[in-house]
Amino acid sequence: MNRSRPLNLKFNPAPLATMRRAAGRDGRYQPVSFWQETIDVVPGEPLSADLECDVAIVGGGFTGLSVACELKRAANDLHVVLIERDVIGHGASGRNGGFAMPLIGWDLTHAVRTLGQQAAQRAYRLMYDAVDHLKRTVDEEQIDCDLEATGYLLLATCAAREKRLRHEAELGEQLGFGYRWLEGDALSEHIRSQAFRGGVFDPRPLIINPAKLARGLKRVAESLGVEIYEQTSLTELRDETPLLLRTEHATLRANTAVLALNGYGAAMGFMPNRIMPVHTYIVLTEPLTDEQLDEIGWSAHRTSLETARNFIHYFRLTADNRILFGGEDAQLYWHEACHDADRSIFARLEARFRQYFPSLDRVAISHRWGGVLGVTLDMFPTFGCGGQHGNVFHATAYCGHGVALSNYAGRLLAPHVLRHLGRADEAGSNDLPFFYDRQPPWLPPDPLRWIGLQAYRKSLQWLDRWQGA
Ligand SMILES: Cc1cc2nc3c(=O)[nH]c(=O)nc-3n(C[C@H](O)[C@H](O)[C@H](O)COP(=O)(O)OP(=O)(O)OC[C@H]3O[C@@H](n4cnc5c(N)ncnc54)[C@H](O)[C@@H]3O)c2cc1C
Repeated sequence: MNRSRPLNLKFNPAPLATMRRAAGRDGRYQPVSFWQETIDVVPGEPLSADLECDVAIVGGGFTGLSVACELKRAANDLHVVLIERDVIGHGASGRNGGFAMPLIGWDLTHAVRTLGQQAAQRAYRLMYDAVDHLKRTVDEEQIDCDLEATGYLLLATCAAREKRLRHEAELGEQLGFGYRWLEGDALSEHIRSQAFRGGVFDPRPLIINPAKLARGLKRVAESLGVEIYEQTSLTELRDETPLLLRTEHATLRANTAVLALNGYGAAMGFMPNRIMPVHTYIVLTEPLTDEQLDEIGWSAHRTSLETARNFIHYFRLTADNRILFGGEDAQLYWHEACHDADRSIFARLEARFRQYFPSLDRVAISHRWGGVLGVTLDMFPTFGCGGQHGNVFHATAYCGHGVALSNYAGRLLAPHVLRHLGRADEAGSNDLPFFYDRQPPWLPPDPLRWIGLQAYRKSLQWLDRWQGA
């Protein structure tokens, strides 16, 4: 971001027009994901009167909640206001696969190649800290979100990927992350399918029910004194002193703002030439019986799984033993439109699920959903600040791996917000991660962007098919 240039943003509702709003006509909550069906939500009141505050946070997903909580923990007298267009956890944070993992970039091998060994090692350590931080938060705040320490197994489905994953396992072990290569009987203890040749096991990742986590964090934020307004859309941000944030019914004046919009940032015109709104989709089965799980070897350990392809598949068990199966494609739509569903991807996902687990051909799919997330061309996130006074902060573009990092965003960003507010005493020390204040690679405008990215997507799909992955 350019710090000295004014940062004025205007909301364009058109890309979000087909997405389901949180509150239906009767005012009741309309869930999109299975996870959102497991929580009890009454949409909260919107901001209806003008307000002044120290920090205005825009977006009520993990990022916004994490920053809000860390600010209040460090300086309880700060007036922190969070506005959310729908309800807390209605975006990616209440729809994701629930894998809290250390992945940054494509994988460790890619991170080492791109950043160099030392920087990649530092980045991965930070990501493991983020995973541990999430576990600590859930324990300390007693958030009931079905957290399970399942570990995570990255599976090879073809010879080319097996070779790469064997290298990934060696690298992960050598850099001290405890990775192990599993094949044969050792693999069958975690999962049995003809499709999988072997995999890299990382014991530390966790799984959660993300909507329960988001609602639990809302409770924590409110108990710390964060003022939350749901059903409140930012319509305009003007880079004045203090900042002016317009919403449908009222305005907010704030000394600093934090944009916590991730994939929704495009509709706000935020970093339009650096971040793309990309979609990923999920299908979910009905609950499996113990016999069905035994048959595919998914009972002794409840390991979370992912296939190593350009277009990955991620799959895990829910607390009631459904299989959540996501991925297969990552779609960017014309004019950056955002969607909750894509029938063609659901059909391909289901077909792939049946291919991996033919013995489960009678197990029905009960839920299908998706959501939007922010992606950069180099697959690394971006944190930082912009605006003419450097007081508009952001944490975004987790590239599909934001569960752990967005929940750590407050730890990374809050010290900088506090320093800007002249609250250096509370700020503490904070090493800047490599992705702070960086410019992700440039993206051309449409139609060149759309054409280029569709061609890139097709070439990655072709490569997956050619490798037999
Ligand atoms: C289907 C799916 C599966 C995924 N699976 C995984 C996974 O297993 N592991 C993983 O690590 N990551 C996964 N991700 C990514 C992960 O969910 C995100 O990185 C993370 O939730 C980002 O949180 P956030 O708070 O930054 O964004 P979000 O949760 O998207 O929050 C942004 C919020 O901003 C609100 N908003 C938008 N516009 C406005 C406005 N104008 N005014 C006010 N509020 C606004 C939105 O309503 C939304 O609630 C997945 C994402 C999806 C969609």
